[in-house]
Amino acid sequence: MIRLHGVEKTYGDGTTAVRSLTLDVRRGELLALVGPSGCGKSTILRMVNRLIEPTHGSIELDGEDVTHVDPVQLRRRIGYVIQASGLFPHERVRQNVMTVPSLLGWDKQRARARADELLELVGLDPSQYGNRYPHELSGGQQQRVGVARALAADPPVLLMDEPFGAVDPIQRDRLQAQFRHIQAELGKTVLLVTHDIDEAVRLADRIAVLSVGGVLEQVADPTTVLGAPANDFVADFVGSDRGLRRLAVTPIDPQDLEHPPTVRQSEDLATARAVIDAAAQPFAVVLDDAGNLRGWVGRRETEGTGTVADRQRRFEETADVGDTLRRALAEIVQHDAGWLPVVDGDRYLGVLTPTSVYTALRRTAPQREGTPVA
Ligand code: ADP
Repeated sequence: MIRLHGVEKTYGDGTTAVRSLTLDVRRGELLALVGPSGCGKSTILRMVNRLIEPTHGSIELDGEDVTHVDPVQLRRRIGYVIQASGLFPHERVRQNVMTVPSLLGWDKQRARARADELLELVGLDPSQYGNRYPHELSGGQQQRVGVARALAADPPVLLMDEPFGAVDPIQRDRLQAQFRHIQAELGKTVLLVTHDIDEAVRLADRIAVLSVGGVLEQVADPTTVLGAPANDFVADFVGSDRGLRRLAVTPIDPQDLEHPPTVRQSEDLATARAVIDAAAQPFAVVLDDAGNLRGWVGRRETEGTGTVADRQRRFEETADVGDTLRRALAEIVQHDAGWLPVVDGDRYLGVLTPTSVYTALRRTAPQREGTPVA
């Protein structure tokens, strides 16, 4: 969708901001450009929408060399979101969102309806916020308006330059989660600039790590960048806690689960006791006849007579097979539980323990890949 080939940028003062960069952004993917300040991230973005021109190399959008497209035409196909939203301060929120549709000559009613639809999409009630001025909104809300405005003409491509950088951490979490939602729904091709590796891990399908001088050090999916950094620079940049960060991108896999003894609700307590003793475990997982999770029963609760159903206890938390290891581990720590049952819908699959989380991380440690070839 976006193809940079041998792109270089040397500014008038002789600063080389980007060096021989070859990179593809695939249709519908979110690719994050990360790297320390000054490594050329913004320069790359601005070359894609021709706010600046490369010194060498070519940039294609959908197979078309962008240097052959009129910049104004080009920017209609590319939404651009910048830090601190870049809203027009003297225009109301709705007017800000209508900017591009108005430029495109949409009639007023259609542009207005589109603006309201987008304000809804980014979680701002148009009847409440549409007539306000930007300064009457919080930083996070302004940023949402910035996203709505970039989406207004339904461009296939979005460029985002530190879009969530200027808002507080709580707002940023919310904005990121919401943007993921929007992206899942709209499937835009997104090139996102951030210096925050956690943001990249959270949002990106692939991450391109750059070093100062605009040198591409690695491009790969988040799991690979965190699990198998291509070199010392990438390893340093993603941090010594990259193993922990990988928890956030590794889903629970049934093959990593442990299987403590199980008993049926309808069984009598003596049978449950025998099962627990035979497995030399302090408890058993309780299932119903369909194999669905119902709770657990400890060795002590099986003393006496009756059925398991009389004594079983509920789990405070369960994890779904689609959840990440990070969420699972957080639950284990939060509830001070040695293990967390994992379900697929209602169906019980096994339990996750701190040991099995660790095993899963080791098993999924990827091999190095995505190192650019010279
Ligand atoms: P990043 O977005 O990764 O922080 P930039 O793309 O903004 O990096 O900048 C890359 C390098 O280019 C830096 O060394 C910066 O000082 C330099 N630079 C950026 N814009 C200009 C400019 N207009 N003139 C000269 N040098 C520039």
